[in-house]
Amino acid sequence: MSALARQETFLQSALIGQPLVVSYGMGVDSTALLVMLEWQGIRPDAIVFADTGSEKPETYAYATVIEPWLQRVGFPALTIVKNPSPIAGHASLIENCLDNRTLPSLAFGRHSCSLKWKVSPNDAWVSSQDWARAARSADAQVLRLIGYDASAPDLRRRNKALRVTDPAGPYAFSYPLCESQITRDRCKEIILGAGLPVPVKSACTICPASHKEEVLWLAQHHPDLLAEALRVENLATHNLRSTRGLGRKWSWREYLEAEAPDLLRQVRADYDTAQHMPAAYASGAEVWIPKRQRHDHTATMRLTAA
Ligand code: SF4
Repeated sequence: MSALARQETFLQSALIGQPLVVSYGMGVDSTALLVMLEWQGIRPDAIVFADTGSEKPETYAYATVIEPWLQRVGFPALTIVKNPSPIAGHASLIENCLDNRTLPSLAFGRHSCSLKWKVSPNDAWVSSQDWARAARSADAQVLRLIGYDASAPDLRRRNKALRVTDPAGPYAFSYPLCESQITRDRCKEIILGAGLPVPVKSACTICPASHKEEVLWLAQHHPDLLAEALRVENLATHNLRSTRGLGRKWSWREYLEAEAPDLLRQVRADYDTAQHMPAAYASGAEVWIPKRQRHDHTATMRLTAA
């Protein structure tokens, strides 16, 4: 039996009576996961995108690509969830970092940025749904599908996540791309095979996991966002000890000064990297807010340009 067939059998049996939720990052892996589900005739109950407010414009724009496809194949519409800071009400991870003069926690080897801005709003929305309550009452788990691919770093993330998952908790987690040994290149083929364009890698524009070429890409394609990232790094510098900058062991500014000085000069000329802060992302989309984070007591809000 092929790896794909094994995974299909696993999913089919795991799905009997279980609500199924896809954690959708609007990137390559989780888009391929959606296509694979469609191929296998498995319809999720929900597809949830947790918006950090600091994703790339291309990632937000991909919603206009994937939403018609979801509709065409009979999948549920995208649910967008968001977790503004409980007290300060920061609208994005970047705003949070600028205000606190710090970097995303990944730069310090911790994961609270994704826990706060991705995992927590996702969990809060899922647990508030009737089908999740019904599953709880029936002692069943909600099955959460995560789009990690079969690359070594994603396999490590999967293994780490499985180690801390409570088997008796309300959620069971499945990593179909890992189980089916689907690589990132194969994900791209799967997406193209469905007639969809391949999305950019989804991550915050200030993500400390960014590779150097991604920093360069940001400088070339979104100099305003690069300027904003450098402002985050500049402001946090005074509070740094072993961490050097947004690259954790390296500074984005120092890297660009050494490798792309002309580009950096241009960014500095066009945008004041000490002061510049671009307008907030204007999605117009309805975004679900967890109850404890609702400053205006409504369940949703619409993001508008600053
Ligand atoms: S993409 Fe990077 S910066 Fe954004 S929440 Fe995840 S780990 Fe943190």
